Amino acid sequence: MYQTDLVVIAAASLEKEEENDYFLRSLKNRDTEELDVIVHSIYDKISGGIDCTSCGNCCKSLVINVKQEEIAPLAAHLNLSVDETKEKYIEESQQGNCFINTIPCHFLADNKCTIYEQRFTECRDFPHLHKPGFKARLSGTLMHYGRCPIIYNVIEEVKVRLWFSGNDQPSLP
Ligand code: SF4
Ligand code: SF4
Repeated sequence: MYQTDLVVIAAASLEKEEENDYFLRSLKNRDTEELDVIVHSIYDKISGGIDCTSCGNCCKSLVINVKQEEIAPLAAHLNLSVDETKEKYIEESQQGNCFINTIPCHFLADNKCTIYEQRFTECRDFPHLHKPGFKARLSGTLMHYGRCPIIYNVIEEVKVRLWFSGNDQPSLP
C-alpha cells in the first residue's frame, strides 16, 4: 500500500533532500510530454488509492490563494455579503492578492471541506500532478513532497519507473 503516514513522509523528505535534488536535475533532458504521460498515469493510480479525507494536510498547512472572482460565489454560498465574507475569511495584500486568513483553513472540519462545491481553484488543482508541464513545476512540487502523501508516492514511483526501467540506470551521488 501507499505511504500515508505524515510523520514518516516528513522525515523522508529530510533524508531524501539530496536524492530529490538529483532527481530534479536528472530530468533536465527528458522529453516534457513523455514525462507528463508517465506522471499522469502514476498520479491517476495513486490519487485513487489515497483518501484525502484521512489526511487534509494541505488544508491544514498551506496558504490558500483565493481569486477575486471566487469571493462573491463564496459569499452567496455562505449567505453573507461580500464585505462580511472578506472580513471573516479573507486577507488581501497591498497588491490585491487574496488568501484565506487562517492556517488551517477555516472551512476544514473533521478533515473534510465544508464548502466542497465552492472550494477554490487552488484547492481543486492541488497537488497539480494532473496538469501538463510536470518538469517545469518539479521544483515547486518537491516543496510539498514532505507534506502531501500523493506527491510523495507519485515522486517515488516516478523515480522507480525512470531509474530502474533498464534504460536509465540510477547513479545517485
Ligand atoms: S476551502 Fe476546503 S479544500 Fe480549500 S483549503 Fe479550505 S478546507 Fe481545504
Ligand atoms: S492533496 Fe495531499 S496533502 Fe492534500 S489531503 Fe490529499 S494527500 Fe493530503
